[in-house]
Amino acid sequence: SFSLLNSFTTIFSVYAQILNAIVGMSRVFAVMDETPVVADLPEAPAMASVTGDVEFDHVDFSYIKGRRVLSDNTFHAAPGQIFGLCGPTGAGKSTIINILTRYYDIESGGIRVDGTDIRSVQQDTLRVQIAQVLQEPFLFSDTIMANLKYAREGATNEECIRAAKQANAHEFILRQPKGYDTVLVDGGTNLSQGQRQMLTIARAIVADPRMLILDEATSNVDTRTEKLIQEGLLTLQKDKTSFIIAHRLSTIRHADQILVIDKGRIVERGTHAELMEKKGFYYDLYMSQFRGRLAGIVKE
Ligand code: ATP
Repeated sequence: SFSLLNSFTTIFSVYAQILNAIVGMSRVFAVMDETPVVADLPEAPAMASVTGDVEFDHVDFSYIKGRRVLSDNTFHAAPGQIFGLCGPTGAGKSTIINILTRYYDIESGGIRVDGTDIRSVQQDTLRVQIAQVLQEPFLFSDTIMANLKYAREGATNEECIRAAKQANAHEFILRQPKGYDTVLVDGGTNLSQGQRQMLTIARAIVADPRMLILDEATSNVDTRTEKLIQEGLLTLQKDKTSFIIAHRLSTIRHADQILVIDKGRIVERGTHAELMEKKGFYYDLYMSQFRGRLAGIVKE
């Protein structure tokens, strides 16, 4: 009977291993699920290194056939320009980013980067040229250094440490039990949200591509951390064509061009000063946030 018990234990442990494998697999699929399949053309070439000239030419897009989400979006961002995207919730700001990174193909019109239609090249070779700093940073369960190095093949320890310094992350990294060799548990749950964001900024500095997408990275952090993050972001934006999705308009005041999106259309465009002068949609958005701030509703 002892051997029977033994084999039960063995069977049970194999069963547990299989269960683990299934759970692990479903996690992998969960990540894949978020990435819809956009097919590359057969024998599509790799995209050459770009300077970051981005052109939307009368772009229409729907996630679901017949339900238009973006209509007739046209704009041109020259290399190094900072573009702010704002507008009410559901207006289509994230969608503009989703189609620029080609997670979806557009319905009509064209998106060109350095004059090349992004549908004509391998999607991966476009995406590696766009750094993304999003609200919920994605980090690997590996060491801090490995997370930084992952950004660019051949990146050295020195380059990663320099980037971490520029992102204001160096100090908190040194305070971790093993410094740069500290392993991030479960995608970084042993760091604070602000620290995870600073690390993502450092990683984007290491990658140093010509295009950058920021989905307003400052939420639920204290004022000091927020200031450190903002400084890191300014360094990161340097010389990159940047698209900043702003929920608080103060983050795009310095943009070269602000696109105001409403119901999938660009309803206004210009600099902060020009749009304030206009006293239209942007002005109303700005004033309502300003009044909210005065009333202590919106954090500044
Ligand atoms: P927010 O400020 O709330 O982030 P947003 O301006 O970024 O909003 P989008 O996320 O671009 O808005 O959404 C634009 C529209 O597209 C919304 O009506 C939304 O419901 C719809 N939408 C977004 N993602 C999908 C999707 N994957 N499938 C179907 N519809 C979607």
